[in-house]
Amino acid sequence: MRPFTSTISIDEARRRLGEAVRPIARTEQLPIARAAGRVAAADIASTGFVPPFARSAMDGYAVIAADTVGASHATANVLTIVERIFTGHAPTLGITRGQCAEISTGAPLPEGADAVVMVEETVPAGDGRVGIRVAATAGQNIGRRGADISPGDFVVRTGDLLNPSRIGALAAIGRADVEVFCRPRVAVLSTGNEVVEPGEPLAGAQIYDVNRFTLAAVIEAHGGQAEPHPPARDTIESLEAALAACDGADVMIFSGGSSVGERDLILDLVERHGTMIFHGIAVKPGKPTALAMINGTPFFGMPGNPTSCLSNAYILLVPFLRATARLPLYAPRTVVAPLGRTIVSQAGRHQFYTVRLRNGVALPAFKGSGEITSLSQADGYIEIPSEQSVVDEGTSVTVTLF
Ligand code: AMP
Ligand code: MG
Repeated sequence: MRPFTSTISIDEARRRLGEAVRPIARTEQLPIARAAGRVAAADIASTGFVPPFARSAMDGYAVIAADTVGASHATANVLTIVERIFTGHAPTLGITRGQCAEISTGAPLPEGADAVVMVEETVPAGDGRVGIRVAATAGQNIGRRGADISPGDFVVRTGDLLNPSRIGALAAIGRADVEVFCRPRVAVLSTGNEVVEPGEPLAGAQIYDVNRFTLAAVIEAHGGQAEPHPPARDTIESLEAALAACDGADVMIFSGGSSVGERDLILDLVERHGTMIFHGIAVKPGKPTALAMINGTPFFGMPGNPTSCLSNAYILLVPFLRATARLPLYAPRTVVAPLGRTIVSQAGRHQFYTVRLRNGVALPAFKGSGEITSLSQADGYIEIPSEQSVVDEGTSVTVTLF
């Protein structure tokens, strides 16, 4: 045993994590249909106009505004319809004084027209004519060429998250592909002689691997590409083989063996192959968490206890992964609720305490660090600072939702 001689604060852990981030540099070209949620790796400017032509914003009549002066419901100004212009068809005629064209929303404006009068403000006048019942102002109901985007306008900048509207802007300028940053490759595996893959039969002292799956789910949800590996045994040889198998990953995450027991060999692994950045954080759950750099690649030693592991994945890994993937900060939703039962917290450790929300009340849901249901049956967590040891029933608490 090599007991923790010191731990660092959560704030210090966050600071060191921030320094260890290596934002992904590799890029790839993707069809825009597959680029949603990715991060642009190039500035993209339009080469054309959007819309490419002046168009009507209404169903109605393209007119010359000067022909509508004095028009009213009592005395309509009657104009001759020269053509019907539908979307997808270019007008074949221009209009001159006394003339108009029937026009659909989105159809190109004919030469000579400078306004569109909506159909609701017109009245049929027979003989291919229409009565205009309001005076139009030049430019009304017209989307001018390039009103949305002009050549040279940037629709996306390097580092922009490609949300649905930016994908739409790329489509609008006719881009079929976009250069994005690659999703970081995140190797993930569990360690422990007792750990068995779900689906296999369980023998005597074995348990199913939980952490590989919770971690992979977190990785995939926050911009990473999880590369799962089979569990490693509690021997230095097995851990070294597992490390070698992670070659090429941008981030490596092992769970288990990061504490101070005799068979907890993550420390030895790091000692042999890398540099420890921290080991031991004054948080509960999740104290035995390690961060190291191995051959220039960030390496996480996550606690084996499933709740400790996942709690720290939410709190520490998510910001780290998102920064690596160049995604914007993640701001989970919070709600304020009265606490339904008094919580006693261990002094000296910043606690993330899971709660369930029922009828607007936050009920303690934490069972223990080893119990995944501490999290799976909770809606979120409250934070209890290290200097606080009791949170009384009825206290208004801020719940961060999962
Ligand atoms: P360790 O961090 O290796 O000392 O493990 C702490 C506790 O978590 C032990 O009870 C382990 O059996 C358990 N544990 C370790 N790894 C996993 C895992 N991948 N899935 C579920 N439980 C685990
Ligand atoms: Mg273990």
